[in-house]
Amino acid sequence: MQLRVRALETILTEKGYVDPKALDVIIDAYESKIGPHIGARVVAKAWADPDFKRRLIADAAAAVGELGLTARSTHLIAVENTRRLHNMVVCTLCSCYPWDVLGLPPVWYKSAPYRSRAVIDPRGVLADFGVILPADTEIRVWDSTAETRYLVVPMRPAGTDGWGEEKLASLVTRDSMIGTGLALAAGDAP
Ligand code: FE
Repeated sequence: MQLRVRALETILTEKGYVDPKALDVIIDAYESKIGPHIGARVVAKAWADPDFKRRLIADAAAAVGELGLTARSTHLIAVENTRRLHNMVVCTLCSCYPWDVLGLPPVWYKSAPYRSRAVIDPRGVLADFGVILPADTEIRVWDSTAETRYLVVPMRPAGTDGWGEEKLASLVTRDSMIGTGLALAAGDAP
């Protein structure tokens, strides 16, 4: 795969379709600038500010824009986890993922077993991730597409009253925003 990518890049460069410097900028952005810390900022803000959370659920792209961040390519939808409802995200077709707020997807997100089992047996998949939810918590699985991507707003951990947004953000893991994990407990803050 690496060889094929390099061959393709060489051809596109030689034909003048792409500028290698521009590619480097894009790769650097996804490797170092864009990542789950952006989503974590959004979630922490939603936890700290109920009005922001309402706006986020109503129109995620606009709310993310308020933070000076851009949800660029796609329609972004934020779904909130509660005691009664747990949201989980998959792309059954391929690997659609909210890159703008979560960065590069984890390898397992693209794997066939995750993509099929997330729909057939979400509770089993969650157990594999070490997440055991109460039996009466409904699990809702959202299927991402090229047009529509989802950001899960995990439940705010207990014992975090009065925490600032930066400290709150440290509890928001990537997996908790995919719905395959929970936010860290207050005592596990890094
Ligand atoms: Fe996809």
